[in-house]
Amino acid sequence: MIEVRNLTKKYGDKLAVNNISFKVEKGEILGFLGPNGAGKSTTMNMLTGYISSTSGDVLIDGIDILEDPRKAKANIGYLPEIPPIYVDMTVEAYLGFVYDMKKCKLPRKAHLKDVCNLCKIEDVRGRIIKNLSKGYRQRVGLAQALINNPPVLILDEPTVGLDPNQIIEIRTLIKKLGKKHTVILSSHILPEIQAVCDRIIIINKGTVAADGTADEIAKNITNEHKMTLRIEGPTHTADDKRLIADAVRALDGVTYVRADMERERGIYDYDVETDGKTDVRRAINKLCAENGWNILMLQLSDLTLEDIFLKITMDEGIDKSDDKKSKSKPKIEIKTTESGKLRAVQENSEERSETDGSNDNNGGEE
Ligand code: ADP
Ligand code: MG
Repeated sequence: MIEVRNLTKKYGDKLAVNNISFKVEKGEILGFLGPNGAGKSTTMNMLTGYISSTSGDVLIDGIDILEDPRKAKANIGYLPEIPPIYVDMTVEAYLGFVYDMKKCKLPRKAHLKDVCNLCKIEDVRGRIIKNLSKGYRQRVGLAQALINNPPVLILDEPTVGLDPNQIIEIRTLIKKLGKKHTVILSSHILPEIQAVCDRIIIINKGTVAADGTADEIAKNITNEHKMTLRIEGPTHTADDKRLIADAVRALDGVTYVRADMERERGIYDYDVETDGKTDVRRAINKLCAENGWNILMLQLSDLTLEDIFLKITMDEGIDKSDDKKSKSKPKIEIKTTESGKLRAVQENSEERSETDGSNDNNGGEE
């Protein structure tokens, strides 16, 4: 239904959106998740033809938004970040005006009534918009997008500034709309996106940092390549720690081992990372069995989507200010592998082969 190819937007020297590509299938609810300034609104403005792209294509139902804007835009209902409402009009007059602007052919009275019912604004139809609460205004904005029943809805931070009850109402409404429409919705709030969307695209600094269902994104990052081990050695002294760390480090596919806390007397935790291709759990088991060491715990690292989001979006921001932390606990960077999968990679780990220096100065933006 929506296809975006290599979409890029530059404001002067500033690269706001950098080579974004994705597709949205009919009936999908896609969430754009990203911190403020990530490029969500810019992307949505290009999707809807509100601003032009510097390069790249947007196809709405196969129609290029810049080549045939009228036809493409007829498929889209857009709720921009700041709803395009005329606050001195009544709800009724405003929606009638939008109906005319969209040259809507649906039966006027019945259609406007349906839209108002759906957005629960029937009881304020006679009111002047500026006297309405923020929640109602937002719903009027949504109603405006729904007029003419467009198959695609693009909603930019639809719940921003609303109170918790209003947020739940709008979410419920969006879910309902998702049954009949293809929806893209943006938010900088993770639970919001998780609650409403079938699929999530995490946008950071103008690029797609992750794309998939919440589970897929979390799974791609948490699969076997990071784990915590707790092993009991033979002597219950710090010698065990060295011995075990070295032996685990020597296993095929292990790229990083760090002995962590002493959990019980002489029993240590080890942070282990692998190349992401090898499942080393059995080899670790064998190693310990052969040496008579006891595995007391083996836990695959369990990043929640929230951890992932924070790591993707905050890593660079805390680099310098958080010196102490970064020394005691290496930070994790999210990398995309050749197969397009996501991997959490330990920063400053010497074994890391991906580092080629090209990431170290990313363009000097901001
Ligand atoms: P988001 O919606 O994710 O918060 P935006 O798309 O609004 O992010 O902004 C992305 C980046 O582009 C930001 O750094 C912002 O300052 C910049 N930007 C947005 N609009 C303009 C503009 N009209 N002129 C210059 N820079 C802009
Ligand atoms: Mg925005």
